[in-house]
Amino acid sequence: MIKKINLKKPPKGLTRPGHPWVYRSQIQFPPGSIVPGDLVDIYTERDRFVGRGYINPHSEISVRLLSRQAVPIDRDFFSERFRRAAAFRARFVKDTNAYRLVSSEGDDLPGLVIDRYGEVLVVQFLTAGMERLRPIVLEALEQAVPNRGVYERSDAPSRKFEGLVERTGWVRKDCGDEIRVIENGIETAVDLAAGHKTGSYLDQRENRAILAGLGVGRALDAFCYEGGFSLALAKAGARVVAVDAQVEAIRRAEAHRKRNGLPESSIEFRVANVFDELKTLEKAHEKFDLVILDPPSFVKNKAAIEGAMSGYKEILLRSMKLLSEDGLLAVFSCSYHVDDRLLMQASLSAALDTQKKLRLMRFLKQSNDHPVNPFIPETLYLKGFLFTVASA
Ligand code: SAH
Repeated sequence: MIKKINLKKPPKGLTRPGHPWVYRSQIQFPPGSIVPGDLVDIYTERDRFVGRGYINPHSEISVRLLSRQAVPIDRDFFSERFRRAAAFRARFVKDTNAYRLVSSEGDDLPGLVIDRYGEVLVVQFLTAGMERLRPIVLEALEQAVPNRGVYERSDAPSRKFEGLVERTGWVRKDCGDEIRVIENGIETAVDLAAGHKTGSYLDQRENRAILAGLGVGRALDAFCYEGGFSLALAKAGARVVAVDAQVEAIRRAEAHRKRNGLPESSIEFRVANVFDELKTLEKAHEKFDLVILDPPSFVKNKAAIEGAMSGYKEILLRSMKLLSEDGLLAVFSCSYHVDDRLLMQASLSAALDTQKKLRLMRFLKQSNDHPVNPFIPETLYLKGFLFTVASA
C-alpha cells in the first residue's frame, strides 16, 4: 500500500517546482506509522497529485520523488530508467569504458549510483528508500545491462544518516578486485574495494582531456590521487609534479605511469600534504605553467564553509605565486556547499593579495555522465575555473 501524504500550504515564494525533494517541514505527517523507505504519493494541500516517491521521516530531506506519475515502482520502471541512462551515455560519453551509468537525481533515480568499470558495474544505495528497492533494482539491472559483474559499494558515510549500515562486496560474478579500465587512451587499474568513491574519480574525465589539451610544459597536479590529471598531461608531453598525502594513492599512480610506458622523468610523484608542499616549492623557486588544485570536499556541511574558504584561499594564493607569467590555474570544488560564487570569491581574494590579474578562460564542471538537472542545483556539485594568472 502506497501511503498518501499532503504537503503544507507553501509560504509565498517558497515553492520549488521541478525539484524532486520534499523537506520534513513541508509535510503534513499523517496519523499512523511511517517506516523509513516506504513508498508515498505526494499531494498538495488541495489534494492535487504531485508525484510518487519514497520517504524517510528521520531525514531532513524526507521525500525524494521517483516519478511525477502514479506509475508502479517495479522492475520495469527501473529497467526503463536504466535503458534511458545507458542511451544518454552512448550519446555523450566518449573514449572510455569507465563512466557513471546512473547518477542518482541526475538520472531521476535518487539514492542510486551505478558506475561502469569495464565489464563490472559498481552499485551504491544511498537512502533507506532505495535500499528497500534493492532487490528489484538488481533484477532490473540484469535485465537492462545483462551479464556484468556487479560489485556493491554501499559504504558512503551518508548512509548513517539514513539509518543504514555498510554493505560491500560482490553481488554477482566475482571479477577480482582490480579492474583494468581505459580512459582517453590511458590504462589504469581500479581498486573496487578500497578506491575512493566507487573506485575512482570518473567526474574529472572530461577536465583531464581539456587540461591535457592545453599543451603546457611543466605542471603541478596537487591532490593527484592515483594520477588522473598527471597521466593525461604526461601523455600529452608535459612534465608533471604530482602531490598527494596518501602513500597508497601515489604508489598506484606510479604503477599507472609504468603501465602506460611513460618515462620516469615525465611525472615526479611526491607524498606530501599539499599545504606544506606548496610552501616547499615556493622556497625552492619552482615555476609551473599549469597548477591544478583538486582538493577533497573540505566542507561536508554548511557550518564548515568558513574554514574551507580560508583553506581554498591559502592554496590559491600559494599556487598563484608558483605560476610562470600568464600561467594557467585550474581550481575545483567538489562540494555543493562551496559553489562557483564562493570559489570565485576565494580566487579573487587570493589574486588581490598576491597582486595578480586573472583571466577566466573556461568554466569547468563534472563530466557529462554525471548529468546536471538545473531544476536540482545539488546535481551540479563539481565546479571549476581555468584562469590565466599574470602580474597586476
Ligand atoms: N585529482 C584526482 C582526484 C583528487 S581527490 C583525480 O583526478 O583523480 C582528492 C585527493 O586529495 C585524495 O587523493 C586525497 O588523498 C588527497 N588529499 C586530501 N587532503 C590532502 C592534503 N592536505 N594534501 C595532499 N593530498 C590530500
